[in-house]
Amino acid sequence: MRSQYTQKDVMNGDGYFYLDGYIMKHEDRDTVMLNDVIQTMSRRYTCLRPPGATGTSLVTTDGLVVYGDVRPPQGSPTCKELYTCEIENGHCVRTIHGEVRAVLNAAKLGLCTEGATVYTVLKPCYQCTKVLIAAGITKIVYAGVSYDEQRTNDILANAPHEIKLVRLDMKLDYGQGGLK
Ligand SMILES: [Zn+2]
Ligand SMILES: [Zn+2]
Repeated sequence: MRSQYTQKDVMNGDGYFYLDGYIMKHEDRDTVMLNDVIQTMSRRYTCLRPPGATGTSLVTTDGLVVYGDVRPPQGSPTCKELYTCEIENGHCVRTIHGEVRAVLNAAKLGLCTEGATVYTVLKPCYQCTKVLIAAGITKIVYAGVSYDEQRTNDILANAPHEIKLVRLDMKLDYGQGGLK
């Protein structure tokens, strides 16, 4: 994560704050929310497959936040418990990806996903992008890219509503721990 602001800005006006040693402005909400999901998921991921800790948060138009952990469905053993992933075509298919889990968690709580923003560690894969379009997500903010397929960009371009894709330059903390 980088910041364009300096100590001089802080001296000259309000609206600045410190985050992990960087000076941020309150308007930098996307940076704060993405940093939050990177930090949170570095402690919660269960998949062994590199790049490791990924995950998602979904923020409704009312500002309510739900997380989407990368985990198998409830009751099934995780990759860490089994000491192996279930790889098909370069994806671990044992887990539900964070983006899908966030939409499902919103559904479980009865939260509207129409117009919501998704903060996700990595650019969503093809499967997750389909779900996000169908759920009415209008903004996707991410830090890294692992899956970058033309078909993903094509379906985003085909979406009936505009979806803003924002990539922020953030330090990824894949963590050493996470949950079992
Ligand atoms: Zn896995
Ligand atoms: Zn995915």
